[in-house]
Amino acid sequence: MNSKSTLAVFLSKLAIFKDANPKLEQYATNSQVAAGILWSANLLGDIEGKVVADLGAGTGILGIGAIELGAEEVHFVELDKKAFAQLEAQVHYPNAILHLEDVGLFDKPVDTVIMNPPFGVQRRNADKLFLEAALRISNVIYTLGKSEGQKFMESFCKDHNAQITHAWEYMLPLPATQKFHTKKKHEVQVTCWRIVSTKRR
Ligand code: SAH
Repeated sequence: MNSKSTLAVFLSKLAIFKDANPKLEQYATNSQVAAGILWSANLLGDIEGKVVADLGAGTGILGIGAIELGAEEVHFVELDKKAFAQLEAQVHYPNAILHLEDVGLFDKPVDTVIMNPPFGVQRRNADKLFLEAALRISNVIYTLGKSEGQKFMESFCKDHNAQITHAWEYMLPLPATQKFHTKKKHEVQVTCWRIVSTKRR
């Protein structure tokens, strides 16, 4: 992939959630945002040649993009059977390892975590569970969340010996795939934070 837009076009062809489960907050990262995050992460040396985990992989857009940018190995961790079946259907790389597992139980150390976790709207603390899982296995984390969560992210990092090194803002279109969405399409302002653990391992 020689440009961010080539990556975005490639990612836009992937399948997305068929029957999104609202309880699990199954919102796919759109291809523009995914390409933006991955491109920035790669420029900072966190993708190519690295072992990466995509926590809450859904249909796999972030992990697939990481492989396309030259990650050595990518672990896709997804708890939902339906999403996992979609993952299996479209992730065909020798260096992809799929785990049908709760992120809270996944314990393989990796170089980089990249994730679009549940925003913790439907199930409180789902976002915290993901962040804690990520910090347990990696020193470098890219996590997407609503920009209004900036204060939460700062205090979470303070409490967990971590610091925010970068933050990128995007508008994430959420298609009205779920019954409680009334408008056809709406956008939310999201931030991708790069978090680095300050604890020595
Ligand atoms: N990473 C994908 C999907 C994001 S939606 C993308 O960027 O498009 C969040 C995903 O996390 C959903 O697929 C949901 O099923 C999964 N998920 C929610 N709770 C989980 C848990 N405890 N363990 C593993 N996966 C979980």
